[in-house]
Formats: sequence, structure tokens, C-alpha cells
Amino acid sequence: MNKQAELISIGNELLSGRTLNTHGQDLGAALTAIGLQLVRDTTIPDDIPIIGSTVQEALSRADLIFISGGLGPTIDDITRDALAEALGQNIILDLPTVALITERYAMRDRKMTPAAERQALVLENSIVLPNSVGAAPGQRIEWPGKKFLFVLPGPPHEFNAILNEEIVPWLIHQFPDARPNLIRIIQTQGIGESDIVTLLEQAHFQPTHIDLGFYPARGKVEIRLTTDPENEPKIVAAEQHLLKVLEDFIDYDKNKETT
Ligand code: AMP
Ligand code: MG
Repeated sequence: MNKQAELISIGNELLSGRTLNTHGQDLGAALTAIGLQLVRDTTIPDDIPIIGSTVQEALSRADLIFISGGLGPTIDDITRDALAEALGQNIILDLPTVALITERYAMRDRKMTPAAERQALVLENSIVLPNSVGAAPGQRIEWPGKKFLFVLPGPPHEFNAILNEEIVPWLIHQFPDARPNLIRIIQTQGIGESDIVTLLEQAHFQPTHIDLGFYPARGKVEIRLTTDPENEPKIVAAEQHLLKVLEDFIDYDKNKETT
């Protein structure tokens, strides 16, 4: 049980430096919390051939593919067309979404326009995922090989609303055996990364089945140990070993905050 997910973020502004791409962080955290893994985060421009080839590549590797951006009403929003072409599907108008957008517009004394209606266009074989905070809905598409594509709007609050309200509960139900990894965090201070590594080498610290991450920042280094839920004894032993080897450099106050 090791479902792997990829994110494809679409938008010229994400590549030009205008906009910080926040979806990778939000999706990574949401999936990690329910025992699924984000293994790749790709950012590409609003370009139909590039979207098509990137989605095909992701489908050849991952079980869950998240695609975001380019679902709005403007002419640079071409994600639907690109996906329809790449997946060989028709685009249809989702009437319940049209009704919802019309109702929301009416509440604000705004008239429905053809441009606004374009946001209710979805792929024919998709399950429409309601957007509680915006117009364009999310979509879930089942693909042969037990794969799923999720198509989500770009604005972060809309992306996160659909992710947390619609997709995460569905994933928990769909993958009930998924368990979050075990994580141990050790904060050190007054020692640099290379000196930590030297001490660990001298102590023959080479834990098996444990992923080790070192995250330096301003005189401190955070060490993260991660492993599958069945390796609890291994992670406890590795943590104890680390605390002993680095005992003169442990930031105990910080450790209290994080564990
Ligand atoms: P779009 O869905 O491409 O029309 O984008 C709508 C708004 O969401 C724009 O202001 C984008 O810059 C923003 N946006 C799109 N994708 C992302 C992302 N990955 N991270 C942060 N903001 C985004
Ligand atoms: Mg865009």
C-alpha cells in the first residue's frame, strides 16, 4: 500500500516569478497526513502540447494525479481543452454547476454571462466536485489501471477548499489502509551539518528503513527521521542513538515544541 501522487501546476505566472506556487506545500501536507505520498511536483506553462505530454507522462507513473490552474473564464485558461485532447474526452456543460453559479451571481445582483458559464465546462466522464468558495468546480476522473486524476482551480483558497472538503474525505474512504508515516524530529544547535555528519560517521550511525533529512537554518539543524508505521522500534532506536551521539548539541526547548 504505497499510493503515489503527482501534482501538475499550470500557469505562466508560476514560472515567471510573479506568483508563488503554494499548491505543492498544501497538497504535500494534506496527503502526508493521510498516509499518501506526493512524489513529484511539476510546474508548466499554459500550453496545450506541454500540458498533454506532462499529463501522459504522469499517468504512466503515478496512481493519483492532481492538475491545477487554467480553469477560469479567460482566454489563457486552456487546461480543459488540453485535458480533453490528451485524454480523448468531450467537454460538456455541467448544468448543476451552471445553476449554482447563476444563483450565486443573483445573490450579488450579477447577471450570468457566457464567460461565467464557461467555468461550468467539465470533461464528460468526470465526477464534478463542488467548489464552496468559487465558480469552477473540481473534477475527478477515473483512469484505467486504478488511477485517478483530480482537476482543480488555481486560486489557493479554491484549491484547498475542494481538496479538504471533497478529495481528502474521498481518499480516506478509498484507501482505508493508508497510514501516515512515523516522524521523529530532533533540533540541534551550535553545530553545522558537516560536523554532524562527521560525528554520525564516527558513531557508525546507519539506520535501516529510515529516511533521514537534515534541514539547516541559522545556526540550527533540524534532523527528521521518517519511516513506515511498522518500523516503530527502528525509529525509536535511531532517535535514541542520535540523541546520544549529538547530546552536547540538542536544543531541548525546541524539541519540546515540536514533539
Ligand atoms: P487560474 O486558475 O490559472 O486562472 O489562476 C487563478 C489565480 O490563482 C491566479 O491569480 C493564479 O496566479 C493563482 N494560482 C494558480 N495556480 C496557483 C498555484 N499553484 N499557487 C498559487 N497561486 C496559483
Ligand atoms: Mg492561469
